Amino acid sequence: MSVGIVGGGITGLATHHYLRESGVESVVFEADDEPGGVVRSAEVEGKVLDFGPQRTRLTPAIRELVESLGLESELRRAADPPLYVYRDGRLRLVPQSPREAVTTDLLSWRGKFRALLEPLTGPARDGESVEAFLTRKFGPEVARYYFGPLYGGLYGSHPDEMPVEYSLSKALEKAGVERSVLTAVARKVLDGREAPPIVSFDAGLQRLPEALAAAHDEGVRLGTPVREIRREGDGFALETDDGATAVDRLVVTTPADVTADLLGDLAPDSAAALRELHYNPQAVVHLHAETDLTGAGYQVQYDEEFRTLGATWNDSLLDRDGVYTCYLGGSRNPELVERSDEALGSLAAAEFEEITGYEARDLSVHRLRRGMPAYDRSWAALDRISMPEGIRLCTNYTARAGLPGRVREAKQTAEALAESEESSSGEAEQSAVVA
Ligand SMILES: Cc1cc2nc3c(=O)[nH]c(=O)nc-3n(C[C@H](O)[C@H](O)[C@H](O)COP(=O)(O)OP(=O)(O)OC[C@H]3O[C@@H](n4cnc5c(N)ncnc54)[C@H](O)[C@@H]3O)c2cc1C
Repeated sequence: MSVGIVGGGITGLATHHYLRESGVESVVFEADDEPGGVVRSAEVEGKVLDFGPQRTRLTPAIRELVESLGLESELRRAADPPLYVYRDGRLRLVPQSPREAVTTDLLSWRGKFRALLEPLTGPARDGESVEAFLTRKFGPEVARYYFGPLYGGLYGSHPDEMPVEYSLSKALEKAGVERSVLTAVARKVLDGREAPPIVSFDAGLQRLPEALAAAHDEGVRLGTPVREIRREGDGFALETDDGATAVDRLVVTTPADVTADLLGDLAPDSAAALRELHYNPQAVVHLHAETDLTGAGYQVQYDEEFRTLGATWNDSLLDRDGVYTCYLGGSRNPELVERSDEALGSLAAAEFEEITGYEARDLSVHRLRRGMPAYDRSWAALDRISMPEGIRLCTNYTARAGLPGRVREAKQTAEALAESEESSSGEAEQSAVVA
């Protein structure tokens, strides 16, 4: 069996790695000249900048990848640092422990007591938004000032636009939360379970997809966009500018609209549904500032009059001298990405100064027109997506965003394909014996 993988972001490259590990032949086609997709790093003024994700958790699957690629010595680890939400005139500590939950001024005493009733509340209801769900479970303060900005802010969506069944439910399910979030957190604290450490690499996060591509370079075709996918016999032909490649199975990891174009003839109804999925455009502005800020960064509460969604303090988090990364745009200001570099740079610097009190200057401006999947109401279209036999979607938008989730799904996809090969070769052997 041969597998064609469309897209050489972290998902496509990790799938390729796991397939090769299990002895399945595969080839990755990547449109760009560089591997990594959204995961992109570069050096500007001698400083390492990341234009997409800034860090990942070193989950067991990522640790295993790092070790098998020999990247341990390049890892940069961060302790779990404080995180802030900006609301009502200043940065306020996001509680990450029961003690901080008591001392933080992010919430009033009334808000904190209301949150304690959460174990008595019921599970998500049909059609409920993340905002409504969190308000019903934890009360309005925790919804608006704590979970809302952290969860919605991550994707650039307002929690009121996000149906819980297509977004938060999946994350809670994965975290093993059945009914009560507080009970699950308490159980975790009592068991002494800690989240895996936050990491990046000396040269930035793109080091991981680069190392994956280099480890299997004979099967990675960079600068080779797939133009068309056709059925050919029991398999498929992938059309590129270099000609057609025949494969038996397909794993598609491209953004939703690209996938829709590629599968338009093979699965027209699913392609139409894929075209409905929204992404939140985002501008990523790197700043240089001399500060004594300590922590991971902040999210801006969504009722505030800022265009910044949040900022990562790379300086303190990952020891990147003077570097701060601001995310602007999202569902409230999607048009922002159309502004000039100059306008975006000075807007980010001015807002950073207002929020933190420190002067900053811009180092770089990067645009993600397809930034984060919005996981908003357009996700109802997912129910209309089904793939023809032999094609698997392994994507952000059909599963979860984030490097740990992408790598995990890549591994599961590769394992399922390897198993299907084993069972079909077993059947072939059996029929040969019968014949
Ligand atoms: C702004 C931002 C911040 C983030 N922050 C974090 C974070 O801090 N931590 C974290 O864990 N995750 C974070 N994420 C999420 C994480 O980066 C993504 O979930 C993950 O990188 C997606 O990888 P992917 O391979 O599935 O998709 P992509 O990276 O989108 O890869 C798809 C690939 O397909 C290629 N392609 C497109 N068209 C074609 C074609 N016709 N033929 C061949 N190839 C094609 C593209 O060039 C691309 O390389 C962030 C994401 C964004 C956008």
